[in-house]
Amino acid sequence: MKKIISLVLVALIAVSCVMGLASCGNSGSTDSKAADSKTEEVKELHMATNAFFEPYEYYKDKKVVGIDAELADAICDKLGYKLVIDDMDFDAIITSVTSGKADFGMAGMTVTDERKKSVDFTDTYTTSTQVIIVPEKDSKVSKTDDLEKASIGVQLGTTGDIFVSDFKEAKIERFKKGADAVLALTKGKVDAVVIDKQPAEKFVEANEGIKILDEPFAEEEYAICLKKGSDLTAKFNKALKELKKDGTVQKIIDKYIGD
Ligand code: GLN
Repeated sequence: MKKIISLVLVALIAVSCVMGLASCGNSGSTDSKAADSKTEEVKELHMATNAFFEPYEYYKDKKVVGIDAELADAICDKLGYKLVIDDMDFDAIITSVTSGKADFGMAGMTVTDERKKSVDFTDTYTTSTQVIIVPEKDSKVSKTDDLEKASIGVQLGTTGDIFVSDFKEAKIERFKKGADAVLALTKGKVDAVVIDKQPAEKFVEANEGIKILDEPFAEEEYAICLKKGSDLTAKFNKALKELKKDGTVQKIIDKYIGD
């Protein structure tokens, strides 16, 4: 009898799941609202990112890994949430956060005054700079000023894009992914690529015949962006502070960047 009752119960639950009558976990849809406005039983936080930015976020065995993915996981763990990663174009991340589709954005994202107008940033967790990647041989570009007369590949909406936009004579090609800009460079379709240092190093490692120029650029601070006024920001900052203090942040960075 007990068996029959359990079977009937299982069948009932299954049916109500299908009909959407019961909460059966996340449906995987991308229209979930920000955690702030969710009811208490919702234990997921959606992270908006662009997962083509090794070592910060990239695919390994169909899973998004990297510094940001691991750090986000550690933060969510501390705060009692399950992390869900939503992969999208870099220039869609901020809108996704402001609209509440994602709870936060983490994508090797540099803190800028312009972005601060639309989102709040946590404290910074690491720094970077822009670099110029060029062909190893016969490069048209050998210093920053040469960019003025060059064709330059960048990733749309990034600080690299903002930087090169000042070169009024340059021909700028904006790609959805940094990897596509680098591909254009290896095929000789652009003269140089301007992109963040650590991803640049990974690209140079993975592709023959390109190198990074030794030119100085301003330091940039990476942070996590959240919806303006979100009370998650303070919680993230507290978690970050603890993870910095106990060495977790450095450990994660060292795992992906080495020394
Ligand atoms: N740090 C750069 C920016 O914030 C690039 C980030 C990225 O391409 N993921 O614009």
